[in-house]
Amino acid sequence: MAQRSLVWFRNDLRLHDHEALTAALAESSDILLLYCFDERQFGKLPSGFPKTGKFRAKFLIESVEHLRQAVRERGGELLVRMGKPEQIIADLAGALGITSVYFHQEATSEEQYVESALRQNLNALGVRTREFWGSTLYHKSDLPMSIEALPDVFTNFRKQVEKHAQVRPLFPTPTRLKHFADVEAGEVPTLQGLGLEEPQPDVRAVMTFKGGESQGLQRLHEYIWQKDLLKTYKDTRNGLIGADYSSKLSPWLANGCLSPRKVYEEVKKYEAQRIANDSTYWLIFELLWRDYFRFIALKYGNRIFHKFGIKGKPREWSHDREAFERWVVGKTGQPFIDANMRELAATGFMSNRGRQNVASYLVHDLNVDWRWGAEYFESVLIDYDVCSNYGNWNYVAGIGNDPREDRYFNPKRQAALYDPKAEFIKRWIPELSSWDAKRLIEADSLEYT
Ligand SMILES: Cc1cc2nc3c(=O)[nH]c(=O)nc-3n(C[C@H](O)[C@H](O)[C@H](O)COP(=O)(O)OP(=O)(O)OC[C@H]3O[C@@H](n4cnc5c(N)ncnc54)[C@H](O)[C@@H]3O)c2cc1C
Repeated sequence: MAQRSLVWFRNDLRLHDHEALTAALAESSDILLLYCFDERQFGKLPSGFPKTGKFRAKFLIESVEHLRQAVRERGGELLVRMGKPEQIIADLAGALGITSVYFHQEATSEEQYVESALRQNLNALGVRTREFWGSTLYHKSDLPMSIEALPDVFTNFRKQVEKHAQVRPLFPTPTRLKHFADVEAGEVPTLQGLGLEEPQPDVRAVMTFKGGESQGLQRLHEYIWQKDLLKTYKDTRNGLIGADYSSKLSPWLANGCLSPRKVYEEVKKYEAQRIANDSTYWLIFELLWRDYFRFIALKYGNRIFHKFGIKGKPREWSHDREAFERWVVGKTGQPFIDANMRELAATGFMSNRGRQNVASYLVHDLNVDWRWGAEYFESVLIDYDVCSNYGNWNYVAGIGNDPREDRYFNPKRQAALYDPKAEFIKRWIPELSSWDAKRLIEADSLEYT
């Protein structure tokens, strides 16, 4: 029997390694492709910040535009809608005689709520869903343990996975796509239409991030092959300035423009053709952290958002709004912290070293509720990923997966190690450019604010 299917794109804005799309193409006579901007993602967070800030919204818009272009180049069409996916998809299914809806599942409650509402609406219409898991390097079903038995210490998880699981091969990129319905394609919204302003370019930014699958693949190619940087990744990954100290793949991974299995495949090719060393392994190691936080989110559900975290560890948090706002705008008086926070506000990106430090400073030095910091990151980070963000914040706040109870990043010591000439500090706090580096690094509380 002819089957009409709809593929619902979510955080999987790519054509390569897309299991839901591959299955729909194999099982259907006609397919419709859809991306839906969920209006609930463009409201305000409890702390008042826009839920999706301007950097991430811009990257998302670009990613959807590029996906549409890639689909059109193959003879198809990507429908774009704004609203509630569970209603929009059900309406389309009813109107167009769709019999199956294909999509990738997500790991956290807001997204799972939409999935379950969609299932219900489609069920009432007699339309089935075909659901897949496609966001991690190791497939959820290939883990050598159940989600309930997932170890609470990363190393235990990693060792078991490395020993007993295998990364699945990639799904092929389709070369032809057909569009069957005479239905309006729909406009991709603008930033202005979403109530957001255009981010201003900043020459000090680590790089210009442009959303889209081909841009993600290009960055992967550039980092690994053209610039040949993979072989030194482990030595450079704690850097602070410029495009090349780390892969910068995170925004494309977060939006699914890049599949982690694609990154893995390129690393394996590089290891076979050029060199295999600690650095080439370490990029995969970091992708395992990404997987881990996703599986932790499945295991602990909404506890990753709770003030006592997944450990359920009671702690009194301060709600000093003024201290928090000084942290947000980079005016705490601690130069290394402020430089990082200014970079984030100006560009939507911050290094991993920076993130660890500013998060530690907020929760351990200022004792401010970690959820405020996590929400600010949710709003501003161009690579925001719910599992990686809340998982890392839990970890730094000492209420997550860190086996050490008392981990603390001393910003003076960290600046001495990672910014010994205060180049990074001076880059982001130009009013300090004539200051002596040693004095800047050793400062506790400066009066430049
Ligand atoms: C408080 C805090 C919040 C964070 N929030 C996010 C977030 O919202 N989104 C996000 O992608 N990362 C987050 N991270 C993790 C990490 O900082 C970024 O993934 C990394 O800085 C992105 O730069 P890169 O792509 O050059 O990383 P690379 O060093 O090149 O690493 C390659 C990839 O591995 C993954 N990865 C690396 N480190 C981590 C980590 N600690 N946890 C999970 N995945 C990791 C990322 O997908 C990254 O793109 C957070 C870290 C902290 C401490």
